[in-house]
Amino acid sequence: MSVLVYINNYGGKIQKNSFEALAYGKALADKLNTNVVAAMLGPAENPSELGAYGASEVFHNPSASFADHDPGAITKALSGMIEQSGAAVVIFSHDYTGKSIAPRVAARLKAGLVTGAIALPDTSGTFSVKKAVFSGKAFADIEILSDKKVISLLPNSFEYSKGEGSATVTPVNGEAEKSTLKVKEIKKESTKLSLTEAEIVVSAGRGLKGPENWGMIEELANDLGAATACSRPVADIGWRPHHEHVGQTGIAIRPNLYFAIGISGAIQHLAGVNGSKVIVVINTDPEAPFFKAADYGIIGDAFEVVPKLVTAAKALRA
Ligand code: FAD
Repeated sequence: MSVLVYINNYGGKIQKNSFEALAYGKALADKLNTNVVAAMLGPAENPSELGAYGASEVFHNPSASFADHDPGAITKALSGMIEQSGAAVVIFSHDYTGKSIAPRVAARLKAGLVTGAIALPDTSGTFSVKKAVFSGKAFADIEILSDKKVISLLPNSFEYSKGEGSATVTPVNGEAEKSTLKVKEIKKESTKLSLTEAEIVVSAGRGLKGPENWGMIEELANDLGAATACSRPVADIGWRPHHEHVGQTGIAIRPNLYFAIGISGAIQHLAGVNGSKVIVVINTDPEAPFFKAADYGIIGDAFEVVPKLVTAAKALRA
């Protein structure tokens, strides 16, 4: 009857999203008076450390052959662990991996699925999970009626912290099934900080006039320890790489602080960033729609305002 959380293992490195999912799983397990187990695939130095984030037990299959991230193979391996643990609720992060595996696992378990949850389930009476719908314009509370339940948690929706403790590690043997995918090439993002993991994001749009003007955006991001992002047209014209494109058709992010510089604030852009905790908009046009979504707005020319922010950020750092 436990809660099982899938931990994404990128070559021995566990990302923030998985710790958030584990903290969410632990809080849910406490509500249900049960324990939380973690499931992890691939080599990892010390899986017992997941105990410091709430796991009481870790099912660990260190087989290296999961390295190609074939969702079908991972689903099969994970299903065995879910069965072994007797878990009634399975939690994923709603990241790329979770998006591809959670529905497959739900189909195998014949479980009800809610993707992109933003809060702990309401377990008083029924089991209902809140998520944002219509590009963040409304919320839906979805009841899961099946005995088994699968939830994927929207990144940056749940706080986690590292505590004490160490988890029991249960080794799981077995190679992954032969992959039906052939990985031809893996292109790693060149950015130092992953966009979905960043607490602060500095984003710019067509108001920047050309790719040669991104130096000040990168400098500001660097001084603030932030990731850089952009609007879709900027990526489409090739001013910035596509992995920086945020919005409805790009990446959805929820940082603590989002700078929108020279971006109009079209609904399709807002759909990917309106979950940010604080939004700062810099735009020459006082009528730009983004100001309606802003916590702080500066009506001004990015080429005057951003260098001043860079100076202020450097002073703050010093
Ligand atoms: P613009 O609309 O050209 O706005 C530029 C802004 O910069 C203006 O507000 C202007 O006042 C301001 N500006 C100009 N000069 C300066 C200056 N010197 N200093 C400060 N401000 C200045 N867009 C996305 O971003 N993400 C998506 O995922 C996405 N998906 C889409 C999906 C569909 C199906 C469709 C139809 C569109 C989608 N779009 C998406 C496009 C979206 O509708 C907008 O066209 C786009 O977001 C506009 O980008 P922008 O704000 O950079 O450019």
